[in-house]
Amino acid sequence: MDLTPPGQLVVVATPIGNLGDLSPRALEALTTADVVYCEDTRRSRILYSAHGLTPRAPLQSLHEHNELERCAQVVAHVRAGKLVALVSDAGTPGISDPGERVVAAVIEAGLAVTSAPGPSAVVTALSISGLSTERFIMEGFLPRKGSERQRRLESWSHEARTVVFYESPQRLGATLDELAERWPLRRVVVARELTKLHEELVRGTLTSVASHFEGRETQGELVVVLEGLLDERVIDDEEILRALDHAFDEGASTRDAVDEVAQALGVARRHVYQLALGRTRD
Ligand code: SAM
Repeated sequence: MDLTPPGQLVVVATPIGNLGDLSPRALEALTTADVVYCEDTRRSRILYSAHGLTPRAPLQSLHEHNELERCAQVVAHVRAGKLVALVSDAGTPGISDPGERVVAAVIEAGLAVTSAPGPSAVVTALSISGLSTERFIMEGFLPRKGSERQRRLESWSHEARTVVFYESPQRLGATLDELAERWPLRRVVVARELTKLHEELVRGTLTSVASHFEGRETQGELVVVLEGLLDERVIDDEEILRALDHAFDEGASTRDAVDEVAQALGVARRHVYQLALGRTRD
């Protein structure tokens, strides 16, 4: 990427803890941009002064509450040939942070968007989790409660890819307990305070990691990385049918048998239900 041609939006990643992680190209973007949009101008000023820098132009705010209004302004600046930088409080803008809508608006206007890439907590946590990095999904922050949260967790019962999500320290304990109840032996990693002085990675089964955090006042920022469940293909229909027969022999209703088997084998409930139709005894 060349930052010299004017008329582009550059999405700039900033450190998630360690100030040394600001790349030379990110520095260049922050110091040469004609306009810098920041999630929080005070936080960005701290970043500038920590590097002994002064922005060329006044910093403008662009946060979740004004992002839509700011889109037209950003597009106008880029169209006028300005180099516009976008930063969030930490990490990569647009990743559970403002940025997605303004990037889409600039693209929609037929103008250029580029990046000064760098830290993001999701990839940082995943890369040192020790779990499979081949295929993963990022869930952002989970809905705090309600049916949407339940649907999301339910979908992980047949998720073969590694699942990554952000969580607050106040809710970590309850979330781990909830997950451990569903999948006691599924492996998980809690990555806390990445790149900072008190970086901590807690690895184990959901049961053991939940008990590690039980009754503790957890602080700082954290990412949870959850192992994907075994590929559904290794569990064949014969095995599912055997488990269904067993549940029916124990007196389970169709609904309970399907729930039980889908959860125990980590396969899609829909598929188990189809198989159960031919076996129903109630
Ligand atoms: N855009 C950011 C990124 O690319 O990582 C994420 C922004 S999101 C609002 C903030 C969340 O990211 C925190 O609540 C935490 O879950 C995670 N996070 C940020 N910095 C972290 C760190 N140093 N260690 C662990 N998690 C971190």
